[in-house]
Parts: sequence; C-alpha cells; structure tokens
Amino acid sequence: MEWLNVLGKTPPPDEYLTPEQVLHLRSILVEQATSLLDAGKQAVTDLTTVREVDPDDLDLAATESSREFSLRLVDRERRMTSKIQHALERIDEGTYGTCEVCGAAIMYRRLVARPVATQCIDCKTEAEQLERPKTRAL
Ligand SMILES: [Zn+2]
Repeated sequence: MEWLNVLGKTPPPDEYLTPEQVLHLRSILVEQATSLLDAGKQAVTDLTTVREVDPDDLDLAATESSREFSLRLVDRERRMTSKIQHALERIDEGTYGTCEVCGAAIMYRRLVARPVATQCIDCKTEAEQLERPKTRAL
C-alpha cells in the first residue's frame, strides 16, 4: 500500500502503523464523522469522497452547499469535522500516523484513543504549553 512507500526507511514495526492499523483507524474516523454529522450524512459523504472525484468534474454548486452546511455547524463540531477530514487526507497522502512537527511515529494506542492526533506526545505537550501559558500556570 502507498503509505508504506511514503513512510520509507523500514519503520520499526512497533512504532509505525501497519496497513491494517491504518484501515482500522480510518474506519474509526469515518464512524466519528458519521455520528458527528448524523443530521447531515450527505456532508460526510462529500467529505470522505471528494478526493476520489476529478477536481475538474466537481459540481461547484454541490460543493458550496455542503460547505455552507458545514459552516452552520456549531464551532466545536465544525473544527472536529475538519480535523477528521484532515486525518483522512493524511491517510490518502500516506503521512498519517507521523508527527507533523518532528516526523516521529505517533503510537498506535494514542491514535486509537485520538484518531485525529497530528502530533506525537512530546510535540503536543510543547504546543499546548505555548498555546496556553496562563491556564498551564494554574
Ligand atoms: Zn513530534
């Protein structure tokens, strides 16, 4: 499968995801997107299938209406949806399961608990400290 080629460098089997693990996490992501938008399943379909469509053939009106729908979701749901979409895109790109900051493998167990994770524990902790110095100081 493609993501193995992209990961390259004979990943240690305990750290990088196997194709089966990626498929499992992908199904979790799709499931989360579905329950998140259970009033708008069509939007989920749009989000998860858009990459299979030739951009030249995209119906712009349909794309706009599903986007409009997404914009109407409450902020938290919208951000979660975009995180899920981002994770699905990374699966397609073959970069899923690696840290976006340092490139290290994200542990499978961490991804099962939080499939939208884009950073390893170390980078995430560091980013949170930078983002919220005041709340952290409590
Ligand atoms: Zn990292």
